Amino acid sequence: MRKKTALIHGGRAFDEATGALSLPIVQASTFRQRSIGDFEYEYARTGNPTREGVELLIAELEQGDRGFAFASGMAAITAVMDLFEAGDHLLLSEDVYGGTYRLMTQILSRHQIGVSFVDTTNKEEVESAIQESTKAIFIETPTNPLLKITSLPTIAEIAKKANLLLIVDNTFSTPYFQNPIEHGADIVVHSATKYLGGHSDVVAGLVVTKGRALGERLHYIQNATGGVLAPHDSWLLIRGMKTLGVRMEEIERSAQKIAQYLHHHERVEKVYYPGFSTHPGHLTHQAQASGYGGMISFVVKGEEEAKAVVENVRYFTLAESLGAVESLISVPAKMTHASIPKERRHEIGIADGLVRLSVGLEDVEDLLEDLAHALQFA
Ligand SMILES: *Cc1c(COP(=O)(O)O)cnc(C)c1O
Repeated sequence: MRKKTALIHGGRAFDEATGALSLPIVQASTFRQRSIGDFEYEYARTGNPTREGVELLIAELEQGDRGFAFASGMAAITAVMDLFEAGDHLLLSEDVYGGTYRLMTQILSRHQIGVSFVDTTNKEEVESAIQESTKAIFIETPTNPLLKITSLPTIAEIAKKANLLLIVDNTFSTPYFQNPIEHGADIVVHSATKYLGGHSDVVAGLVVTKGRALGERLHYIQNATGGVLAPHDSWLLIRGMKTLGVRMEEIERSAQKIAQYLHHHERVEKVYYPGFSTHPGHLTHQAQASGYGGMISFVVKGEEEAKAVVENVRYFTLAESLGAVESLISVPAKMTHASIPKERRHEIGIADGLVRLSVGLEDVEDLLEDLAHALQFA
């Protein structure tokens, strides 16, 4: 089954009991047992048929063995982090999502889980950061917001040799363009709030595991800690995911045009877009993904100019988040990455004049005119 087909017919494509092509929202917390222990579902934290629909679907799309749905991307990442214990150490991509950075440095540090942030595009740096207590490598590729590319097979090989788990946050590429498990990852996480849901109407997170043992541990954690996705949100997510393929293809076509336009604009100092052959990770990305996605970052002169751009667009909506049908625009230093200290932000290259775009499904000509207008004020 090819991907666009799997999005429609994968997982649990229809309801066995009624034939309904849209899975019923089973708004139930508990289930009748025929006799003690004789049941399909027991209690909805442990398992719910609608949630199971999305869990089966994401496992199939990511070519993993089991899928788990959570109430947010951060709940999904937190559940994965519950695999570790005091004294363990993890390596993370240095420009990891701001919320993940905060979770590691403000919450998990209190539980004595150590963390080092490294440039995972640099093999030697990753290898030399591995300690006796290191248990996992957690990466994003492309990263947020600089769209740096890490080689999945390279990091998978390092992880395997050192007996570490490789965890990949695949939110930016989506399973439509990239399947990290195929390249050696053990666990994939998603903020399904973004492209998978795709319509700015649901907050959700997903985890996919490879192998039986990890799947059982993750299910134990999901049930024990309880951050599960609600039935109605599970249904919204399935509904969104059905069109992921057509959305990603259209978004990508528009993103290519917009990136080119920005590249030639005199007020734009730099454009970050992995689809450019001059992007340092271009070939690496091409080898592990089938598309470049809809995220573009660019630099204007400074904070004031970035502010002027985002305040003068009409179709790009100034908002946190990404991956929606609506094109979104943000200033990472002031918004998504505000929780990272300024010195650290500059160290990792997040300039004050950096503007991030999430290209949506509007007519690309309108989006180009919108940027042309707003950039006059930069
Ligand atoms: C948004 C995001 C998250 C967090 O997901 P929520 O659904 O907002 O909790 C994690 N990783 C990446 C890459 C994200 O963009």
